[in-house]
This record gives sequence, C-alpha cells and structure tokens, in this order.
Amino acid sequence: MQDGAEPSGAYRYDSRPARPIFGSLIRGAALKCPACGAGAMFRRYLKVADACPQCGEELHHHRADDAPPYFTIVIVGHIVVSLVLMVEMAYRPPLWLHAALWLPLTVILSLLILPSVKGALIALQWALRMHGFDPNDKGDIVPAFDADLPQDPPRPRRLDFRP
Ligand SMILES: [Zn+2]
Repeated sequence: MQDGAEPSGAYRYDSRPARPIFGSLIRGAALKCPACGAGAMFRRYLKVADACPQCGEELHHHRADDAPPYFTIVIVGHIVVSLVLMVEMAYRPPLWLHAALWLPLTVILSLLILPSVKGALIALQWALRMHGFDPNDKGDIVPAFDADLPQDPPRPRRLDFRP
C-alpha cells in the first residue's frame, strides 16, 4: 500500500464542499465560472481562461477536447433536420431555397451554441472533480490501481564473490 492511501474498499464520508451538477451546468452554459458564477470562463471565443478572474478557481484543468463539437452537432442536427422536414412537408420549396435557408442557419446555430456547450461540459467536469478539478487529488490517475497486486518480492541479496 502506498503512503497516504485509503484502506482499499473503505467508504469514507465525503467532506468536500458540494458542487451541484445542475447549477454548475447552468453557470457553464452561461459562459460563467462554475465555482462563483460571476467570472467569465472564456477569455476568447472558445479559449478557456486559465483561472476565474473573479474567484481564482483554476479552469485550465478542463479536457473538453472534441466533446463540445460532438454535442453541438447532435443539438443543431435535431433542430435543423426537424425544420427541414417541417418546411418540406408544409411548402415543398425548391432545393435551392432549402440550401439557402439551412446551410447558413446550420453554421450560425453551431457557432452560437458551441461556447455554451463547451462551458457546460467544463462545468460538469468541475462539478464531478474530474481532470485535476479536485484540489485534494494528487494526479489524474486511477488511485491505487495496483494496491491489491502482490508487492515486489524482496530483492535477493547481492552475491559477493570477493575472497
Ligand atoms: Zn469564479
């Protein structure tokens, strides 16, 4: 067992301050710091601030990666495809009008939604204390993964062939 590790299987009371998931999602979607709800999460369009300018909460731990585009595609796809089908069923417009309507709408909606989706995902990571958002966590590794494995056998004493 490593120094400072909890006994394996022990269930300890979580005394850390609460991080409500839903409230954090709302703050993140509003592009605000999930901890205080006042500071801006982004310093540019999609560039996350290293720390909250209001409360100093570190935000650089996030690993949003390609999840925001993925969820943005899902959201915008449901909106645009629904509208395409409704307009087609109701008015049967020519194809050029479909293209003129939906291509710009898809681009604009995606660019509008993407920061909020990214903010919500980062806030979710913060609320779940993922990726270094837990100040008590020593690293982003599975803790004590090898705690149950047998420890290294004692090293054999070095043979001394000197006379
Ligand atoms: Zn803050």
